[in-house]
Amino acid sequence: MVQARPDGNHRYRFCPKCGAPFDLIEKYGRPRLACPACAFVFFQNPVAGVAAIIVEDGAVLLTLRGDGRGWDLPGGFIEYDEDIEEAARRELLEETGLEIAIDGVYDARSNFHGPDLHTVGIWVRAHRTGGSLIAGDDAVEARFWPLDALPADSEIAFPTDRLVLARLREDYRRP
Ligand SMILES: [Zn+2]
Repeated sequence: MVQARPDGNHRYRFCPKCGAPFDLIEKYGRPRLACPACAFVFFQNPVAGVAAIIVEDGAVLLTLRGDGRGWDLPGGFIEYDEDIEEAARRELLEETGLEIAIDGVYDARSNFHGPDLHTVGIWVRAHRTGGSLIAGDDAVEARFWPLDALPADSEIAFPTDRLVLARLREDYRRP
């Protein structure tokens, strides 16, 4: 059974511009939060995140999350004033101590695993240019895992990271 995807409207009750309680009105084809006082319409859109894929000698860099959810590809949310590559470089430095250069976009997927935060994930390929490997920020461990001996799926934090890692493993299996 496919779980119904939340539309995000449940997350807010008051207009962030003027503080008046929201109305839920039909607008542009679906129910949306609209402010009766200042006419602001609060469109619920996903938040963008970026993760970097760094492969060295057939092993991929993963970080162990401090929140107990397991391993993921290092990355995080893109700040409002950052572009994708700046965000990837900043997150990698914070979480793994590595300075990186971006090689290109590898994958992009919708993450519906959190009902209160739908994110669009962008995975980029990258390589190390400096720094030294040390976990930091919200990562408690950072290490390279051989692509043929990755953590079990149950130890990977997010379903989309599992898909991206499976694709990556296939890429490296091909002759
Ligand atoms: Zn308002």
